Amino acid sequence: ARKHDGKNGLQMFDAGMLDTARERHEIEQCIEAGLKEGWFEAWLQPIVSLGDGRIIGFEALMRLDHPEKGLMPPGKIVGIAEETGTIGRIGERVLEKAIRHLAAISALDGTQDTYLAVNFSPLQFELTLPHKLAALLLKHHISPKRIVIEITEAVLMLDNPEVHAVLKQLNEFGCRIALDDFGTGYSSLSYLNRFPVDIVKVDQSFTRSLSSGTTDVRRKSRMLIKGIRTISHQMGCAVVAEGVETKEQWQLLRKLGVDNGQGYLFSRPMPIAAMLTMLENDSEAKASSPA
Ligand code: C2E
Ligand code: MG
Ligand code: MG
Ligand code: MG
Repeated sequence: ARKHDGKNGLQMFDAGMLDTARERHEIEQCIEAGLKEGWFEAWLQPIVSLGDGRIIGFEALMRLDHPEKGLMPPGKIVGIAEETGTIGRIGERVLEKAIRHLAAISALDGTQDTYLAVNFSPLQFELTLPHKLAALLLKHHISPKRIVIEITEAVLMLDNPEVHAVLKQLNEFGCRIALDDFGTGYSSLSYLNRFPVDIVKVDQSFTRSLSSGTTDVRRKSRMLIKGIRTISHQMGCAVVAEGVETKEQWQLLRKLGVDNGQGYLFSRPMPIAAMLTMLENDSEAKASSPA
């Protein structure tokens, strides 16, 4: 971003901006290297039923694992990748890995019950996406019914006919669509009837304010979540609360009728190897516990 000098409109860079430009350049180089060397990964975070804590699905979260610089979170990558046009290629890598991971989980637990939620940026909705996704699913023997496409309002606000056509095609193919970070945008409610939304993900800021701040803030947060839950259910959408970090939040959300949750309380996002170990330990613990 450029800074405007108030006096004569000259655009000047200060030292902080040089740092920003340098960091940006560095990230661009990491992205290119990551694509070339296969450093992009899909970490997984479980989504659980708030009724009984059972895992119903996993969200794939992009990580760039640089051998020297370490892990780079999507917050640093996505925006730049959108601007430089690499987001499509990155998205394909993450999608492929995430689907492979879901197949590995199914091989471990012997079921086809859990779903995979994948985040999509507005720029990823090319006309070729449904075909590419179909090919990946076929290759890994995964039903399209197990795929959830997570989009934010930004995707719908584009109001781009191509994006709508692709979303509709994905939906007809059997994939579900989740509206991510719900409640933080401008006119979320109208999207619920204009688009084939199946799942509403209540933004983590709502979950947080359930248990922090004044009693008035907490009371209002409960009302907001209950309202979102009621409208979503009436529209036929399931509700997922993001950012569940405490037992108190879990209890409250369950009382408010929220179906599912996701957050550090249940599990942090982790690489597939750690996830498989965790799932295996869980099932062994269950198998050996008295009925
Ligand atoms: P999101 O889709 O809303 O994902 C949830 C974010 O909340 C993740 O951050 C996750 O690690 C974090 N989170 C989960 N549980 C908790 C919790 O209990 N407390 C707190 N404070 N945070 C929690 P992450 O992995 O850094 O991803 C940030 C955002 O980047 C995502 O937000 C999503 O919008 C975007 N993103 C992630 N992966 C991809 C991708 O493959 N493609 C695209 N286009 N965007 C992605
Ligand atoms: Mg998401
Ligand atoms: Mg979200
Ligand atoms: Mg969010």
